[in-house]
Amino acid sequence: MEETISGAPAEAQPDSGGTKVLRSILRVKGLSPEQIDRLIESGVAGRDDFAQIGDAGTLVEMTGASRDVAERVMAWAAGGESKGGKPVTEVVVQSADVVLCVHCNTRQPKDYKSGDLCVACGKQAEPILACFWCGAIGPGKYCRRCGAEFVPTAELELGILLKREGVPKDDIPQKLRGMTQAEKDVLWGRARHY
Ligand SMILES: [Zn+2]
Ligand SMILES: [Zn+2]
Repeated sequence: MEETISGAPAEAQPDSGGTKVLRSILRVKGLSPEQIDRLIESGVAGRDDFAQIGDAGTLVEMTGASRDVAERVMAWAAGGESKGGKPVTEVVVQSADVVLCVHCNTRQPKDYKSGDLCVACGKQAEPILACFWCGAIGPGKYCRRCGAEFVPTAELELGILLKREGVPKDDIPQKLRGMTQAEKDVLWGRARHY
């Protein structure tokens, strides 16, 4: 996948390696790429920066993420508070298919299947998402009832709106991914009319 950094300032973080890890972590916590962009554009470059954000409510305001997701992110950030000025850096090396537990961040085994419980903490390893199409909830990337690909929780309403507007099920996640923030804002404006 090509990562475009349109709109990023020219002096964007040279520490792209670190930002990449941060992105991966925030992704598994449930933030959408757009929400992560917003955070990084506002200067967040690592776990310690979340101490300045302070609480989940502020994170919700900054990113538009759901409260749930924001709380997960803040819990993760608080867990890594560096003591005595020595930064705590966790190296997270992962391929696209690796599943990290949303509760304890433990990497799940290769034979992990959606819905399995975390090998370390025994909780549902993946976030439970709601289906924009049929309203069922479940873990993983796809709805088990209707097969729709889940969209990020923060964009659930947009998915529902696109459904109402007659966009085919399989096209909606794709469409949301391809939209710019401005296009989403327009869509949000329409979503509020319902
Ligand atoms: Zn776990
Ligand atoms: Zn469904």
